[in-house]
Amino acid sequence: MSDSADVIIIGAGVHGTSLAFHLARRGVKVVVLEKKFVAAGATGCSSGLVRMHYDVRQDAELAWASFQYFRNWKEMVGEGTSVSPSVGCGFTRTGFLQLVAPLDAATLKANVSMHQEIGIPVVIVKPDDIHRLAPSFESDDIELAAYEPESGYAMPSDAANSFMNMARQNGARLIQDCAVTDLLMKNGKVTGVQTAQGEFYAPIVVNAAGAWAGKVNLMAGLDLPYDTWRHDTMFVVRPHEIGPRHPTVIDFANEMYFRPEGGLTLVGLEDGNPIGESPDGDTEHSRKGFVERGIERICRRIPVLEKGGLHSAHGGFDGITPDQHPMLGAAGPDGFYLDCGFSGTGFKTAPAVGLCMSELILDGESKVVDISIYSPARFAEGKPIIGEHPYRSIWH
Ligand SMILES: Cc1cc2nc3c(=O)[nH]c(=O)nc-3n(C[C@H](O)[C@H](O)[C@H](O)COP(=O)(O)OP(=O)(O)OC[C@H]3O[C@@H](n4cnc5c(N)ncnc54)[C@H](O)[C@@H]3O)c2cc1C
Repeated sequence: MSDSADVIIIGAGVHGTSLAFHLARRGVKVVVLEKKFVAAGATGCSSGLVRMHYDVRQDAELAWASFQYFRNWKEMVGEGTSVSPSVGCGFTRTGFLQLVAPLDAATLKANVSMHQEIGIPVVIVKPDDIHRLAPSFESDDIELAAYEPESGYAMPSDAANSFMNMARQNGARLIQDCAVTDLLMKNGKVTGVQTAQGEFYAPIVVNAAGAWAGKVNLMAGLDLPYDTWRHDTMFVVRPHEIGPRHPTVIDFANEMYFRPEGGLTLVGLEDGNPIGESPDGDTEHSRKGFVERGIERICRRIPVLEKGGLHSAHGGFDGITPDQHPMLGAAGPDGFYLDCGFSGTGFKTAPAVGLCMSELILDGESKVVDISIYSPARFAEGKPIIGEHPYRSIWH
């Protein structure tokens, strides 16, 4: 098979499909090439937290711009048709608590001020407020927390499928079971890709291959600092004492995050996430010892969960960069773009990143949020991304 398009996107995770949606909406002929199926990578096993708390302004701006999609999905992305329905994004509002150790209280306050300047609904809360919001939580170790009443979580596979369906309604093509094996280049410009299903031609190729993006960068002759990051999560069954729900939480003090899902609570840990493993490793099971560490950690914050039970555990891989921020923009041969390296936090920003990348590719710069700080050249230039009031790295 051979074919041509205006833009080829490698990878049908939430970022490849978001970009396809935004490009197709502007009349661009897009082909998305996916080695497995939509959301087969990080997107399909993502915890789906949707919150705006970041220590880098552009991250918070991207999350806030994306939030407008999550809470108005049908208006912003579309309803679909009976043949190709939009499955929505499954956004559930739970409220979001950012807990920090007392050492980070001043940093939290500074970051909340920055979020309020952007217009994000967020307030500072104290242990009494936390107790009212979540009576089962232990909060004696907390001085201050940030509370985002509108935030929650969404269903990453649904979001990616919805983006892809709506892109297809605007003329985009999706070809699954189609691994890109090489880039085609002539005189320093990309001309297309070689795949398991033949050659595809386009003057623009976007690398949205997630944990596999480092391999695609090598095809373009790029030697960038890019690695893989493995992350395990588990679901526990909540005992009835906790009640039907609790907020979504990032708990820096205990190096974990958790959120409800029906009668279950999903838990992930910030530490012990291996860097540099093959992204083709087993993701159906969590690694040895993870469940024990996770149970011990969540029971520190919600002691009554000792009466709960394990439901399931699994893992996943994302691409990670040295400053734990994505690489967005042109790099290497003319026409080659990176949209990858989301370092374990890229679901919640995908709607706006896709829009910004479409503006960068079509208009030469992004307008909704200035994404120039995410340039792939920043490492060679010695300009890693660091917030004005930084916490330590999330993953360590
Ligand atoms: C367990 C886990 C929990 C997470 N929780 C959260 C969270 O709560 N909130 C949040 O915001 N973020 C979270 N993240 C991060 C977020 O899910 C990712 O940043 C995001 O899904 C990355 O999307 P992507 O499209 O870049 O990559 P992916 O979803 O990995 O998509 C890349 C796609 O490219 C395809 N591909 C690779 N190589 C090729 C090739 N050569 N040819 C064709 N196709 C190829 C793959 O099959 C894959 O489908 C989590 C990540 C993990 C792993």
